[in-house]
Amino acid sequence: METIRLTIDGQEVEARRGVTVLEAAQAAGIYIPTLCSDPDLEPYGACRLCIVEIEGMRGLPPACTTPAADGMVVHTETPAVNKVRHTTVELLIADHPSDCLTCPKNQQCDLQKVAAYLGVTQQRFRKTTRLLPIDTSNPFFDRDLNYCILCGKCVRICDEVLGVGAITLAFRGYASKVATFDDGLLLDSNCVSCGECVAHCPVGALAVKDAKPPTREVATTCPYCGVGCGIYLGIRHEQVIGVRGNREGVNKGSLCVKGRFGIAEFIHHPERLTTPLIRRNGELTEASWDEALDLVASKLAKYSPDEVAVVSSAKCTNEENYVIQKLARVVLGTNNVDHCARLCHASTVAGLGQSFGAGAMTNSINEIGDAGCILAIGTNTTSAHPVIGLQVVKAVRNGAKLIVANPRQIDLVRLADLWLSHKPGTDVALLMGMMRVIVDEGLLDSAFIEARCENYDAFKESLKSFDLDTVEGITGVAKDRIAEAARIYATNKPSSILYAMGITQHSHGTDNVIATANLAMLTGNIGQPSTGVNPLRGQNNVQGACDLGALPNVYPGYQAVAIPAIREKFEAAWGCSLNPSPGLTLTEIFEAACQRQIKAIYLVGENPVLSEPCAHHMEELKEMDFFVVQDIFLSETAQLADVVLPAASFAEKDGTFTNTERRVQRVRKAIEPVGDSKPDWWITCQIARRMGSQGFDFEHPSQIMGEITSLTPSYGGISYSRLDNGGLQWPCPTEEHPGTPILHTRLFTRGKGRFVPLGYKPSMELPDSEYPLILTTGRSLFHWHTGTITRRVKGLNILRGEELVEINPEDASTLGVADGEMVRVISRRGEVVAKARVTEVSPVGVVFMTFHFAESPTNIITNPALDPVAKIPEYKVCAVRIERNGSSARS
Ligand code: SF4
Ligand code: SF4
Ligand code: SF4
Repeated sequence: METIRLTIDGQEVEARRGVTVLEAAQAAGIYIPTLCSDPDLEPYGACRLCIVEIEGMRGLPPACTTPAADGMVVHTETPAVNKVRHTTVELLIADHPSDCLTCPKNQQCDLQKVAAYLGVTQQRFRKTTRLLPIDTSNPFFDRDLNYCILCGKCVRICDEVLGVGAITLAFRGYASKVATFDDGLLLDSNCVSCGECVAHCPVGALAVKDAKPPTREVATTCPYCGVGCGIYLGIRHEQVIGVRGNREGVNKGSLCVKGRFGIAEFIHHPERLTTPLIRRNGELTEASWDEALDLVASKLAKYSPDEVAVVSSAKCTNEENYVIQKLARVVLGTNNVDHCARLCHASTVAGLGQSFGAGAMTNSINEIGDAGCILAIGTNTTSAHPVIGLQVVKAVRNGAKLIVANPRQIDLVRLADLWLSHKPGTDVALLMGMMRVIVDEGLLDSAFIEARCENYDAFKESLKSFDLDTVEGITGVAKDRIAEAARIYATNKPSSILYAMGITQHSHGTDNVIATANLAMLTGNIGQPSTGVNPLRGQNNVQGACDLGALPNVYPGYQAVAIPAIREKFEAAWGCSLNPSPGLTLTEIFEAACQRQIKAIYLVGENPVLSEPCAHHMEELKEMDFFVVQDIFLSETAQLADVVLPAASFAEKDGTFTNTERRVQRVRKAIEPVGDSKPDWWITCQIARRMGSQGFDFEHPSQIMGEITSLTPSYGGISYSRLDNGGLQWPCPTEEHPGTPILHTRLFTRGKGRFVPLGYKPSMELPDSEYPLILTTGRSLFHWHTGTITRRVKGLNILRGEELVEINPEDASTLGVADGEMVRVISRRGEVVAKARVTEVSPVGVVFMTFHFAESPTNIITNPALDPVAKIPEYKVCAVRIERNGSSARS
C-alpha cells in the first residue's frame, strides 16, 4: 500500500494514497463535522460543514472531496472555518422543526450533535416553516421531509448501493426535496423497503415507526437467508425491539427488509408455541415437558431403524443439527436423516462434489464486487439473496460486465450488459453452447486445463452436440447472444458465476451444476479472487446442516457412512455400533411415510405440507403411527402431529450458523426463551437421554461445538472464543488456521478438477395441448419459504399479502385474463387459485408463482420428478394450464 504523510492540526498523519482529507483525518481520530459524507458513498460535498484550510490553497475546500496529498498542511478549526460552519448550521436549524424532544431521532441526530459541537445555542435567523405532507405509506418507516436537510444520503444510498433508485432530489431552489419519480407515496414506488436510507438519514426525516432506543444490543446472525448478515438485536425490557446491521459482518452493515424489519415481531408473536402439545381425542392439548418428552422417547423406542426417520432443520444451529443427526444414528440406529437441502442444493453437493470434490461456494461474498464479469444464472439475487445483490450492483458500478441468464426479466436485467432469456430447463444446453464458442474461438485457458484438470478430451467430445443452431433451437436464445455471452465471460477475468435454485431444482439439476463447473475450469476462473462457482444457499444454515451430517449418506464433515474406516471412527467416538447403510433422502422419507414403510418421524423446523412437491399427499402424514414436530409456530405440518414440541427462536439460544460462503458465525442468546419453549439442542438431547442413550449430556452448545471439532476435520480449528472475533470460513482444520476464503487455489479438493461430459436432457414434464404453459417457482423478497415466520409480520404482509401468478400479457390476452383477476392454475396433480399479475417479467409461455402462501399452496401442483443423483425435485418446470376462476378460459 502506497502511503503519504500530511499534517492535520499540527499532527503528522500517515494515510493511504488516494484517500480524501476527511478520510485521512478520520483515520487519525481527528473529528471534522459533516452531515453528508458517508463511508458507504462517493464523496458529495453538499453540506459544506467539513470545510478546512489548507496551506497554499485558496478558499475553504471541503475535506470530503479534496484528495489528501503528500506534505499537505491542513487546519480544521480556524476562525474562518468555524464562522462558516456556524452560519451553515444556523441556517439549517432555521429551516428545521425545533421539537427535538419528541423527534424519533432525538439524541441520535447528527444535526443535534454538530450544533452542540459548534456551540450553536441561539436562533439568529428567522425561522421558516415547511408544511410538507408526511408519507406514512411504508409499513415500517415514515418519511417526514419537514426535517430533511437535503444531504442526499438517502437518494445516493438507494442509487449507488441498492441500484434501486426509488427516490431522487426533485424540484429547485427552496422547493427542492427528496421525491419518488412521480412525487407520490413511497409504497407506490419501486422502493424495496430495505430501510438503508433510514439507517443513513442523519436527522429525523426518515425514521422507523414507533422506534424506541434499546437499552442493550446483542450481536448475532440474521435467521433468514444464507447470506448470513451480521445483526445487532436491540433489547428493551427483555424484548427484542429492533435490528441494525453490523458493519463488521459480511453485509458491512446493510440489511434487506426481512432482516431489518422482519425479526422482532415474529419473536414475540402471540402465536408462538409456548408449551408442549399432545394429541388427545384428536385434539392437540397442552402438556408438561415431562409428559411430552417421555411420550416421544417411549414411542420412538418402538420402531426399527427402517421404520423411523428424522428431519433436521436448516433453520437450526450447527450444534442442533449435530445432535439431531447423532440422535438418528446413535439412538434410533438409522441413517434416515435429511433436511431441506434436499429441496434446494442437493444437486450442488452432488455436482460440485464430482467436479471439484467440495460442494460449496468456492469464493467469498465480498469478492463479488471486484469481479470483471458476473454470470448470474438461475438466481434472482436481489430478491432471494438481497445483500449479495448489493455486491452485484457494486461490481457493475466498478465496470464489471453482467450477464443475466434467466427466463424471467428479473430486477438484475436492468443492470445487465446481456440478458439471456432461455427456456426454463435448458441451462445445460445454454452453458454447453457458450463453452463450444469458447473452445472454437480459442478463448479457453489451456495452461490451467493442462495443469489443474482431467478428462478434458472426453468433455470436449461432448461439446460436438452443442453447435449454436442446435442450442438456439433448444434454448430459444439467438445464437449471436450465446456467442457474445461466451466472449464476455471468457475475456473479462476475473469472472464469477453465481447461481441458485434456478440451476439446482431440476430433474437434471446435478448436470446443470456440473455445467457451471465445466465453464469455470475451461476458462481458468477458479481458485482466484472474484472468480469461481458460487451457489447461493437458501436457508440461514443450510450449509451448516449439510456440513454437520444432517444427510443420509454422510456423517459430519461429509465423511461417508459407507466407508468402514470412517464408520469405525464415529463408532469409537460415540460408543455405539452404527448402521452401515446410507438412509433415505427427504423426498424418499415422505414417499415411504405415505406407503406406511416409515411409521414414525421426528421432524424439526420444517413445513413439508407446503414445501414438498405434489404436496397434497403430505396430508397423509397425519395417518402415520407417530409424528413429532418441533417448531416455533404451529405450522401447517405441526397441525398434523401427535406431539408438538415448542422450540426457542434463534434470539433465545446460543450456537453457530454457517453461511453460504462457508463462514461459521455466532448466534447469541439475547433474551430468555419465550414461554416454556426450549432450545432445539436441549429438546433433542432430552429425548436421547430419556431413551437411555449416553453422549447427550451437554449443558451448553459450546460443548457440542467441542465434539464437532474433534470429529469434523474442516471445523477442527473452530471454537467460540475464536468466533468472538468474527466468523471463520471452513476448511479451518487447526486452531492456528486462519480459515479459507477461496477454495481450490492450488489443488482442487479432489486433486484435479474433473471435466464431466454432458448431454441435454429435457425437463420431465413439458407443455402440451392440455397443459400449454410452463410453471416455474421462486421467492418473493418479502417472504420466506412457507411463510411460517414472515406471514406473521404485518408489514411484510402489507408489502406482499397474497400469491400472484405472473403471466405475460400475450398469454393473458389469449386466455382472457385481466390483471388482478383470480385464476385457477391447474397441473396433472391438482390446482390452486391465486390472483393473476399480468406482467412482461414472465416470458410468453411461462408463468411464475412463489410458495409462501398457504391459501394458494403452489406445491400442490409442482412436479415431484427427481434428479436421479441428488434426488432433488423439479420445482422449476412443470406443465400447467390457467383458467379464469369460476369459468373455463376461452381459447
Ligand atoms: S427503503 Fe431502500 S429502496 Fe426504499 S427508498 Fe430507502 S434505500 Fe431506497
Ligand atoms: S431524507 Fe434524510 S437522508 Fe434524505 S436528504 Fe433528507 S436528511 Fe438527507
Ligand atoms: S440478505 Fe439474508 S441474511 Fe441478510 S438481512 Fe436479508 S435475509 Fe437476512
